[in-house]
Amino acid sequence: MRNACREIRQSGKRLGFVPTMGALHAGHLSLVQAARSQCAAVAASVFVNPTQFGPKEDLSKYPRDLDRDRGLLEKENVDLLFAPAAEEMYPAGAVTWVTVEGLSERLEGKSRPGHFRGVATIVSKLFNIVEPDRAYFGQKDAQQAVIIRKMVRDLDLGVEVVVCPTVRESDGLALSSRNVYLNPEERKQALVLYRALCRVQALADRGERDAMKLREAALQVFAEEKPVRLDYFEIVNKDSLEPVKDIVRGALVVTAAFVGKTRLIDNLVL
Ligand code: AMP
Repeated sequence: MRNACREIRQSGKRLGFVPTMGALHAGHLSLVQAARSQCAAVAASVFVNPTQFGPKEDLSKYPRDLDRDRGLLEKENVDLLFAPAAEEMYPAGAVTWVTVEGLSERLEGKSRPGHFRGVATIVSKLFNIVEPDRAYFGQKDAQQAVIIRKMVRDLDLGVEVVVCPTVRESDGLALSSRNVYLNPEERKQALVLYRALCRVQALADRGERDAMKLREAALQVFAEEKPVRLDYFEIVNKDSLEPVKDIVRGALVVTAAFVGKTRLIDNLVL
């Protein structure tokens, strides 16, 4: 993969890179399309990264279908697909980690200890192998995007990070590989995340600036969907991820909730 990528770059082509865990959907493909439109060559990776899953999380049942993913990427004219085995990425005895301090402990990191250490480490490794000019990430994983940007700046990785908008179903549910876990009833309940975010947006549009009031309104929306267990709903600064008192342009509204056993996340930038 390193040689193939070098060859492309040495021919003077700009290389775009889209890292994924596979089970591809239109959200992933929107990143590929953005890369395709901006770069002469596009590489994608499919790797279900074990180090970003907690011991009680869904690593073993995470959806995997490499043949289907390969077909979808071929249709989008992706030049290179990297789909290594876990043993290849993590040789026995590997003990080196990348930790983005502070940002990694909040929100998702609080609920999923070690998650962002796994993410930052695998993304660093993939960047070292691919050496892309640009790498494409989804706003769907807002905290991840903030952390990757910070890592790239702190470690002088020389990759341009591009963050693309969240792709949604027609009813507003954010596309996620984990949506396949939802039964039809849960699929309806899952809309509560988007409903709560929209409620905050609507109140903000009407002039409400008090983050606590906005948050309370969102919690009420969740209270109406009893089976869904809210993990967090926070209004934070879009760079520091620290809670804000008053919303300013660019405040980030982030939420996570369990619908049945499935943990979903969503967010919007006010
Ligand atoms: P994953 O396979 O879940 O690791 O996601 C790979 C990349 O696709 C990440 O940068 C995600 O943020 C992005 N992504 C996932 N879902 C969506 C979506 N609904 N819209 C846009 N990007 C997404």
